[in-house]
Amino acid sequence: MAGEPQADCLFCKIVAGTVPATVVRETETTFAFRDINPQAPTHVLVIPKVHYPDAASLAEAEPAVAADLLTEAGRIALDEKLTDPGYRIVFNTGVGAGQTVFHAHAHVLGGRGLEWPPG
Ligand code: IMP
Repeated sequence: MAGEPQADCLFCKIVAGTVPATVVRETETTFAFRDINPQAPTHVLVIPKVHYPDAASLAEAEPAVAADLLTEAGRIALDEKLTDPGYRIVFNTGVGAGQTVFHAHAHVLGGRGLEWPPG
């Protein structure tokens, strides 16, 4: 059922604690941990505890949780001192955009210059 934990989902396992992660923050609805393959000096993933395959489907079904996700991303950027000169929040959506884990997640990237357009 939408929103329920999926047995074959890596990020559901991280939420459940059966796969280890370097935890950054946790709230009632979200979980944040360091990316295992960082693309910037700071690279944190923020995920909802509920399972949806991508950020848009999360926002459609549970907009309050999607808002929590963005709020957490902003708090992490502040805690990690990314706000000056800036940071990036990325939601890769779909295989063609580089999504590899089909549990909604925000990448929070910072600590280096970030080019535009992205690759
Ligand atoms: P995506 O490519 O946008 O779906 O992002 C998935 C991210 O999860 C990638 O940046 C991976 O490096 C990261 N990742 C995969 N497995 C783990 C893990 O076990 N712990 C932390 N990050 C992971």
